[in-house]
Amino acid sequence: MNRLFIWVLFLLFMISCQSPRAQRQTWYKGNTHCHTLVGDGDMHPFQVVEWYHDQGYHFLVLSEHNTFITPDTVQLPDNPREDFILIPGEEVTDRKHVHTTAMNISGYVPYSNDPALPETMREQNESLSKSELLQMHVDSVRSRGGITFLNHPNWRSGLQVEDIHAVSDLRFLELYSGHSAVNNWGNENHISVEEKWDELLSRGHTIYGIAADDAHDYYEWQQPECNPGRAWIMVQSDVLSADAITQSVAEGRFYSSSGVILEQVTVDETQYRVKIDTAQSRKEIEKLLFAPRLDRDGQEGFTIDFIGDNGRVLETSHSLEAVFQFDREKYVRCRVTFARQTPKGVAKYFCWTQPVWPDRL
Ligand SMILES: [Zn+2]
Ligand SMILES: [Zn+2]
Repeated sequence: MNRLFIWVLFLLFMISCQSPRAQRQTWYKGNTHCHTLVGDGDMHPFQVVEWYHDQGYHFLVLSEHNTFITPDTVQLPDNPREDFILIPGEEVTDRKHVHTTAMNISGYVPYSNDPALPETMREQNESLSKSELLQMHVDSVRSRGGITFLNHPNWRSGLQVEDIHAVSDLRFLELYSGHSAVNNWGNENHISVEEKWDELLSRGHTIYGIAADDAHDYYEWQQPECNPGRAWIMVQSDVLSADAITQSVAEGRFYSSSGVILEQVTVDETQYRVKIDTAQSRKEIEKLLFAPRLDRDGQEGFTIDFIGDNGRVLETSHSLEAVFQFDREKYVRCRVTFARQTPKGVAKYFCWTQPVWPDRL
């Protein structure tokens, strides 16, 4: 072998070693919560899957109430894109308004008074508190290889910070839902879910924020219908598979969106950097598939807020890229808002990146 040939082989080897790292930068868009005619949604699963597929999503969890949906039972569109997958799931739907998404489980997860459980167990479960019900979900989902999201904590009596904080190993809550009756921004019984999130983080709870559709209504496109396309997560993964996406979510390598798209999110020992993808953000927002938050006031355009202990805004920028330098904060997360004036008020669209803990970096 001549020397040139050996060099070519060496270079090819180096490129092949580096390609997984390069692929790590891929963002995958997905929805982890929706319903079909199998549950209380109004469209056939095939058409629901087709809708998300055709809208450019990369992954979808069909999360039916107390029904395990595995991808091999669901018909995919003709000529499906190679970069589209279904992930097994279920919405474990329990008493006391305790609902959770079980993502990437290997089998059915029972609820507390499930007829599938022995009667003695069902009787014992009757006295469980909201925290205990939630703990049961977390443990059952983990034993089936999945991860648990607490869904819509502000729906009806919902779950308060104390209820959530008492649960061990609960790592996700639905921070923002596209469902029109879940009081994302709070009401007389609840502070906003974002405030609950900050309270949990301030108490030392390691918990990430999910945005998801909870779609039910695919024919009537208006409020208060629960249409798809309003809220999703963007997950960074080296490959698109159910296990890889779930692993990235478990590690907090994702952000949640109700319209705003980021080009870059990077964290190292000293700083947290985000960069907005303005073209993609405007493209998503122009689809008008979501229900923006309407406020009386707000600065138009993009705003980047870095947020820390007790929900305090640590730094604000109106640039398209911002860097926050750590200075012994307990945790730091970032929210990007896009606001524009409309006849009804200032419409706001968001994305929320995940908290990081500078002393753990
Ligand atoms: Zn629910
Ligand atoms: Zn649901």
